[in-house]
Order: sequence, then structure tokens, then C-alpha cells
Amino acid sequence: MPFGNTHNNFKLNYKVEEEYPNLSKHNNHMAKVLTKEIYGKLRDKQTPSGYTLDDVIQTGVDNPGHPFIMTVGCVAGDEESYEVFKDLLDPIISDRHGGYKPTDKHKTDLNFENLKGGDDLDPNYVLSSRVRTGRSIKGFTLPPHNSRGERRLIEKLSVEALTSLDGEFKGKYYPLKSMTDAEQEQLINDHFLFDKPVSPLLTCAGMARDWPDARGIWHNDNKTFLVWVNEEDHLRVISMQQGGNMREVFRRFCVGLQKIEEIFKKHNHGFMWNEHLGFILTCPSNLGTGLRGGVHVKLPKLSTHAKFEEILTRLRLQKRGTGGVDTASVGGVFDISNADRLGSSEVYQVQLVVDGVKLMVEMEKKLEKGESIDSMIPSQKILFLSFILFHVLLCWLVTSWAYLADVSITYFLLKKSNNN
Ligand code: ADP
Ligand code: MG
Repeated sequence: MPFGNTHNNFKLNYKVEEEYPNLSKHNNHMAKVLTKEIYGKLRDKQTPSGYTLDDVIQTGVDNPGHPFIMTVGCVAGDEESYEVFKDLLDPIISDRHGGYKPTDKHKTDLNFENLKGGDDLDPNYVLSSRVRTGRSIKGFTLPPHNSRGERRLIEKLSVEALTSLDGEFKGKYYPLKSMTDAEQEQLINDHFLFDKPVSPLLTCAGMARDWPDARGIWHNDNKTFLVWVNEEDHLRVISMQQGGNMREVFRRFCVGLQKIEEIFKKHNHGFMWNEHLGFILTCPSNLGTGLRGGVHVKLPKLSTHAKFEEILTRLRLQKRGTGGVDTASVGGVFDISNADRLGSSEVYQVQLVVDGVKLMVEMEKKLEKGESIDSMIPSQKILFLSFILFHVLLCWLVTSWAYLADVSITYFLLKKSNNN
């Protein structure tokens, strides 16, 4: 039985070599980190809810990935997965989140007033703005491991909480099972609803079991504040609107999210969070803020510039097609969002998007006029750091040599005067 604990003990009849997955063609973070030693050490462990190492890695074993696209290759089945399987997950987290160490502490800042600017992204280029995050409700297993009863209870609690929202957040829940195919398709095409669970990354992780049971979307009356229930995370909270007012989108996101958290807390269901990992979510790539703040932006010229990829990397941004992850861009319109989620705050990550997108739109305008953008390309932060480190090292070397020379000369002079 997949995604249960009953197979765990039985397979221990086989040696580690006999059970170890073939990862020879794989390109994902899990496959990079997993060794026979780690597998041997962790394979008989399970979390209190019965999630095993094989459940953690199954999606990465079944999806070798693409030579140029690095996927994570594993999921958590509950809050404890990150602790019980930390020998595997800590190095994956470090690999995926730029060297984030087991001793590092995460920062949370959901005060939208700390964001500088962001209300004036040029709407001739920025078609829509969006900020999303995930939240896991404490005390339940995560979607790869949910039982039907648990999933239905999560849906019930979420609908109760969301229905009590008022004002700009007043809305309604639409369960997937009472929607027609045409209604679902319309919501997906309008970018409001998650796609059907066709991606093997999702199905092999066990997240599409029992679909569409207990899944649905809640949204306010004008579809600017939306909550997905029981997709990849218990909750995905989204604020979005047409045009380039990211500041307003972020304000609504912070206020709405905090209201939801208060209601859940009042009912003794806080969200999974700790100082080290921030908000705990199903995919290790979303740990920290779980935040993806992004815009659909027209960049037909910049996106064909030789330095486009380099500019994105330097600005700590990532690109997707406008149909969501794994889709291609159409007509030079891209989904540009923050690349990092762990180790920096929500405000910081949205600020990077606001500042980065502004710069990219300016670059696009320059290219339209046939001018060069070379002077606008930001310097590599890593290079700048190495530059400083190099100078510190140089100073240290010079001082220590000077000190050694000083000691030797003094010693020589002393010896000479003693001899004299
Ligand atoms: P995520 O995992 O952050 O939810 P996906 O790439 O899976 O994002 O996309 C989910 C849906 O959200 C897709 O329909 C996508 O087009 C839509 N979307 C993402 N960013 C924006 C944006 N800035 N404006 C409008 N729709 C967006
Ligand atoms: Mg997604």
C-alpha cells in the first residue's frame, strides 16, 4: 500500500543495496544528496503519523527531472518529517536555499507598511500582480499523507474560518466536486484556480489521491483574495489584481492572511512554524515565507537579450510562463517572481520583486529606443562579497607579514646587541 506505514517493516527483510533506488539518471536535489549510508540510516524510521523515508523520496525517484531543470525530488508528509529525516532534508534545504544552515534562523515580517513603494509599476508593461503563500494547520498530516477523514476536516475548518471574514474579504467557498468541468476550466484560464493534478510531480507525491474530494477554492466577491483548500498545501492564500499596484496586493495579502491566522488560532489550530524553517510546508522549496510574489510582465525585447538570464539571477528573481509553473511564455509575457523563500522576510522578498521589475521595465523601454542597457545591469552581489573578502584577506596577510617582519627584525637587533 503506497503512502501508508504498513510496508515499512516488511521491506527491512531486504538489504539496503537491494532496496536502494536507482538514481543514476536523476537531476533533483534529493538524488544529489541521498547516499546508501543515509538511506540505510533512515529507512527504518517513521514519524509519529507513520511517514517513512521512502514516502519522502518517492516523487523524486519516479521523476528523474530534466538535465537543466532542477526539481526538489522529495516532500514532507507531516511537520515531524523535517526532524525525523533531517540527515537527508537538511542538506537538501541547504542545497535548494543557497547554503541555509541547520543553525540558521528565519525572519518573518508581514507588516506591509515596511515595503517601500510598489504602487507604481507601469501598467503598460505589468499586466497583473500577485502574492501567494502556503499555510499548514498544526496537528494534521500534510497533503501527501492525509487520510480522507483528515482532509475533509481540514476543508470543514477552513470553510468555517473563511466564512467569518467580512468587509473586503467577504466571500464564498466553491468545492471542486460541485463545479462543472466548464466552470473549473474558466477559473483555471482566468488564473484563479490551481490546475488539475496532471503533473507527475504531484501525483507521485500522493497529493492527488481521492481528487476532487475535499478540494476547493474560496474567494472574495471580486476575486482579489483567494484561498485554495487541500491542493499542494492545506491552504494556499493568494492576493491578486490587474495592473501594477503590488503595494495594494501585498497589503491585502498581509491583512487577510493575519485575519485567517487569528481565526484558526481562536479555534486552537495554529499554523506550523518554527524559528529555523519559518512556515512549514509540503515542498522543502517553499519553506520560510512560502511566498511567491510576482507579476505578469511584457518583456519581448529584454527576454531575447543575451543577458536576460544573468539579470534575473543577479536580481534574485525567477521566470515562468504565464500559464503557471512549467509553461512557456507567450508573446514575451513572463511571470517574474522572487527566487528565494527562506532566510529573508516577506517584506524583503516582495521588495526585491518591486525593485527588480521596475528596473527590468526601464531596461525594456531603453531597448525599445535601440539603446544599450549595459550600464543598467546590476553588479553581482556574490562578486561584491568576494571582493570585500579578498580585501579583508589581503589586509590580514599584509599585517601578519609586517608583524612577522617586525618580530624578526627586533629579534635580530636584540641578538646583535647581546652579542655586542
Ligand atoms: P503558484 O505555485 O505560485 O501558485 P503557478 O505557477 O502554479 O504558481 O501558477 C498558478 C496560477 O496562478 C496560474 O494560472 C498562473 O497563471 C497564475 N498566476 C501566477 N502569477 C500570476 C500573476 N502575477 N498574475 C496573474 N496570474 C498569475
Ligand atoms: Mg503551483
